[in-house]
Amino acid sequence: MSEPAGRAPMSGKAIAQNQFERAADLVGMEEYMRRILRTPFREVTVEVPVRMEDGRVEVFTGYRIQHNGARGPCKGGIRYHPEADHDEVLGLATIMTWKTALMDIPFGGAKGGVAVDPKGLSRLELERLTRRFTQRIAIVLGPYRDIPAPDVNTNAQVMAWLLDEYSNRHGYTPAVVTGKPIALGGSLGREEATGRGVMYVMQEYARDFGIPLKDGRVAIQGFGNVGAHLARLLVTEAGARVVAVTDVTGGVANEQGLDVPGLLRHAAERRPLAEWPGGRTITNDELWTVPCEWLVPAALGGVITKERNARTVDCRVVVEAANEPTTPTADLILAERGIAVLPDFLANAGGVTVSYFEWSQNLQQHRWTHERVNTELKETITRAYREVRDLAKEKDAAFRTAAYAIAIQRVAEAERLRGN
Ligand code: NAD
Repeated sequence: MSEPAGRAPMSGKAIAQNQFERAADLVGMEEYMRRILRTPFREVTVEVPVRMEDGRVEVFTGYRIQHNGARGPCKGGIRYHPEADHDEVLGLATIMTWKTALMDIPFGGAKGGVAVDPKGLSRLELERLTRRFTQRIAIVLGPYRDIPAPDVNTNAQVMAWLLDEYSNRHGYTPAVVTGKPIALGGSLGREEATGRGVMYVMQEYARDFGIPLKDGRVAIQGFGNVGAHLARLLVTEAGARVVAVTDVTGGVANEQGLDVPGLLRHAAERRPLAEWPGGRTITNDELWTVPCEWLVPAALGGVITKERNARTVDCRVVVEAANEPTTPTADLILAERGIAVLPDFLANAGGVTVSYFEWSQNLQQHRWTHERVNTELKETITRAYREVRDLAKEKDAAFRTAAYAIAIQRVAEAERLRGN
């Protein structure tokens, strides 16, 4: 597969399918099973009319795509983004199926999105949009059917409105959504869980492959939920040096290591990262040239490409904290250059893993301590990491291919046992 210069980057759906086919070849999967796993179980596209503050009605388009539910209820976030479309949502739903299977938690995969720029909405408009979207997709949701969570530009408050709207019809149902506020049955540790899981995977890889993490250099694109928690945890718990960070406006670099707690306070005041005085200003393009051991895309998909940076990134490991940050061609180039890639559905699975803990706490009506959440997260993601590492070694394959092979075989087994 090539990405000729000048062509649009591959869609999320195309990336996910390309990677799936490579792994299906590796495990010799039958064609009928490939067709089941390639295609989504159910897709819902809805119109979302919203009465705006000035009295106009704006009509947005929303999606909920359930890729596979053979191993349990479908699970996946909802994003609000102007570029959210069918193919992106389908690609992300597909990755959720592999992610839950790889973690061996009893869920399938789904994703949702509304094509909207939430920054242009008032709080009331955002609430109306969320309630209307929930009304339109509620028929396919439920604690044993499909359980949404936050994703890009949605948060615990948005999940609280979703919970309220669903519960108005069905009775109090906290287990219909995860990533909720703690006061409504959210789990301790959920907010930092994705970043924490990324750190656990990096610690394991560092130990196995002798790449320094303590005092090692880390460059991170994205300083939102995932990137900011990861930066904090890497510095405070892993002793790493975060040498560069960017967000959508650009960022800062400092070879000695950035003062991450100070940077977090700066960002909390909604000030641009590039104005932080403790480092030199860099653009998002310059981030890819910063010398480091660990390069962590933690913002958007499709950022490491053949044309942009795959031949020039100066790191030993790419850690995919974002979903689908590396195109398949870039993946091959990184492999040729001896740069390892820790794939998204292993590295960033901490969020859905703690979502599973949240769901099970809701069903049991019982609250875990933060310590228990972290301990069980570490156990779950470390076990998955070791399975991937061992299969990669046995088959002399990349981590991504090994992770896919494990995940798609688990889903295929469930499909067969259920009669397909
Ligand atoms: P977020 O909205 O909290 O943060 C996104 C960050 O990316 C922000 O700092 C933003 O400024 C930055 N960004 C946006 N556009 C950019 C651009 N063009 N260049 C550089 N930086 C840019 O989102 P998040 O929850 O941190 O999610 C980040 C990624 O991680 C997404 O790919 C998401 O799908 C993935 N992910 C998130 C979770 C989770 O639990 N939040 C779990 C798994 C995967």
